[in-house]
Amino acid sequence: QQYKTPHLDDTQHTNDEYERVTATERIKGAFVVLVRNSELYAMRSSMQYLEDRFNHKYNYPWIFLNEEPFTSEFIEMTQTMTKAVTHYGLVPTEHWSYPAWINQTYAEECRMAMAANDVVYGGSESYRHMCRYQSGFFFLHPLLDGLEYYWRVEPGVKFSCDIDYDPFKVMKERDLKYGFTLALEELSATVPTLWQTTVDFAKRHPQYIYPKTRPDSLFRFVSQDDGVSYNMCHFWSNFEIASMEFVRSEGYKAYFNYLDKQGGFFYERWGDAPVHSIAASLMLSRNEVHWFYDIGYKHDDFEHCPTEPHWLTYGKCYCDPGSSFDHKEGSCTNRFLEVTKKTVNDFIVTRPD
Ligand code: GDP
Ligand code: MN
Repeated sequence: QQYKTPHLDDTQHTNDEYERVTATERIKGAFVVLVRNSELYAMRSSMQYLEDRFNHKYNYPWIFLNEEPFTSEFIEMTQTMTKAVTHYGLVPTEHWSYPAWINQTYAEECRMAMAANDVVYGGSESYRHMCRYQSGFFFLHPLLDGLEYYWRVEPGVKFSCDIDYDPFKVMKERDLKYGFTLALEELSATVPTLWQTTVDFAKRHPQYIYPKTRPDSLFRFVSQDDGVSYNMCHFWSNFEIASMEFVRSEGYKAYFNYLDKQGGFFYERWGDAPVHSIAASLMLSRNEVHWFYDIGYKHDDFEHCPTEPHWLTYGKCYCDPGSSFDHKEGSCTNRFLEVTKKTVNDFIVTRPD
């Protein structure tokens, strides 16, 4: 009963409203959350924000994934936070363990060295399995079969404005492949060889790379010296609304497999955020990547707050525009605007009159 299966259109837990929306306008989208049982209350908090600000009108399903079985407490107490269908899936061991080519002794030495240098999560083994899973495997989970778009959610995040439109629908109507709210610089100690490995991949598989000479290339978002180095810019993947077609594409999968073989998920601490972001910047055009500017969002101490006149009142935002990270040192949103030759106005979906 716990790992009840796979179909997003499963009607077992539905109610009339769910049926009505399915039949009319809901996109094949879902919230996808990798989470631990111990994060139950932070999870309920994230759900409350999203249901309140958005999902009570749409009832998109929630999909929870975990490498350990969810407790019945976790299941019951998340079900009660939404009218929508909730699914609970177990991450298969082969997606959360060491591949044969990894030298686990060396991996442990690397963790100890990073911990000694006080790199955030540098000593954590589970964090590395998590980043690798979010980079290369989550989209293979059978609960996501048939899904066209996923909205990644984490426990303990906050949504500070009403979301009065359907972001999944915007993704589909505008043929977007990747959406973010915050963009910032990665800690370089976590990805020393990620860029060189990426360059090697691109040389071997040019067919997957969007030509960087095209005017709508996003390449310069991640490299400012024509590919010599990585500028550490990445979209913060704890919020992500993206296309399953993108992460399931041959190019993306080839990229992940190439990275995985080099071992940097274990010998360094490659995050899924730089991996997704570099893939998006090298494989998509700038018109396929959307800044969800009008979605107020906070994860830990980093917050995006829309600051355009009228938006705060229109969206009933409670965030303080002055605390938005966008204009602070280490933010990459200005760089994104520069490279895409767009302005904030290009990203406001619904406009106050
Ligand atoms: P941070 O955002 O980089 O500080 O990392 P988090 O601790 O928030 O982890 C990122 C996401 O992965 C969150 O949704 C966590 O709930 C989830 N996560 C992290 N580690 C584990 C783990 O060991 N098991 C499970 N099931 N989820 C995890
Ligand atoms: Mn987090």
